[in-house]
Amino acid sequence: MLRAMSLPVLSGREGAPPADAAPVSPDDWRWQVRHAVTDLPALEAALSLTDAEREGTRRALAGGFPMSITPHYLGLCDPHDPGCPIRRQCVPRIEEADEVAGDLRDPLGEEDHEVAPNLVRRYHDRVLLIATDRCSVYCRFCTRSRMVGQDGGVRGLERLEAAFEWIEAHPEIADVIVSGGDPLVASDARVASILERLARIEHVLYVRIATRAPVTLPQRITPELCRALRTHPSVWVMTHFNHPRELAPAAQEACARLVDHGIPVMNQTVLLRGINDHAPTLETLFRGLVRQRVRPYYLLQMDPVRGTSHLRTPLDTGIALMAALQGRLSGIALPKFIVDTPGGMGKVPVGPDWIVRRAGPVTTLRTHRGVEVDYVDPPGSHGAVRETAEHH
Ligand SMILES: *Cc1c(COP(=O)(O)O)cnc(C)c1O
Repeated sequence: MLRAMSLPVLSGREGAPPADAAPVSPDDWRWQVRHAVTDLPALEAALSLTDAEREGTRRALAGGFPMSITPHYLGLCDPHDPGCPIRRQCVPRIEEADEVAGDLRDPLGEEDHEVAPNLVRRYHDRVLLIATDRCSVYCRFCTRSRMVGQDGGVRGLERLEAAFEWIEAHPEIADVIVSGGDPLVASDARVASILERLARIEHVLYVRIATRAPVTLPQRITPELCRALRTHPSVWVMTHFNHPRELAPAAQEACARLVDHGIPVMNQTVLLRGINDHAPTLETLFRGLVRQRVRPYYLLQMDPVRGTSHLRTPLDTGIALMAALQGRLSGIALPKFIVDTPGGMGKVPVGPDWIVRRAGPVTTLRTHRGVEVDYVDPPGSHGAVRETAEHH
């Protein structure tokens, strides 16, 4: 356990002013956070807004789910096109006031699955730790819109201690997902202290940091942060690119820096209506990610979060997209399509049915070219599946 604690935790660049001095460069992540657009006049100055956006922003700022857009992310928005795929992810719209049948405040039933304060458990071997409620950009389709930006910011280590103790008392937990909010809006020292605390729990084999910083705040991914992340011997970064335009030069550098520091990076894309529900767009995105050594892990059906029906696709769209991408993309570029079931019952992989029919030992499969091919089980093995399954 001491191996992790012996790593130095660096904060601030060598020769740079102390972290509490006002940052002066847009290349500094603290400058990006400090200059994030959080009010209507600043948004209006940057983009020519539609009435639906203006009214949506007014409502967002009046209470509930706030708005924040970093200068970096705002710079990716088309100032004149309200249909811009980046703009639609971050600028509130009046449709957020709509509620449709099936909409839920807490679609994944996280409040019912909270086993300790800020700790959600839905699977036997893994838990999700809510380390902060803050993000540098609030995605308008956020599954935690009920709480982000509203509940006190970065949790002090004391406020997470009950969660750490719960994990300590449950040796079956091998995987901790540090999420939020965005855990990387915290300082290097705070990130390192969370990882240090987890590294002291021997049965926690790996930790995932769920962050959109490479996309929305790429300046955050400094060499110092990468070293702080190495405080735990097995840290994986789970990031969230939704559109090829987000793979800006600074974002590419952020991914490269993480990977160069030995940190595997996975990507979870949310399928969004009118933003990325198009096979060529996803193909470009997934190839672009692999090019940056980022593995497309999941394509997620959008959760039925209250006020997001304007961004949600029917399930058939995702299934058809997966059918189109299968065979068109290398396996390492093709994520799994996942439905996170309402009520927090767990994730289910969904896809086109490649099995056409089964008859005894013969299974007829449809290939990505539409050809039907028989696969024949070895003699005498038919019916052995149950036994194999029970073995594990
Ligand atoms: C999504 C999620 C996980 C992780 O699921 P994987 O399929 O392992 O990526 C774990 N816990 C909770 C509460 C989740 O929402």
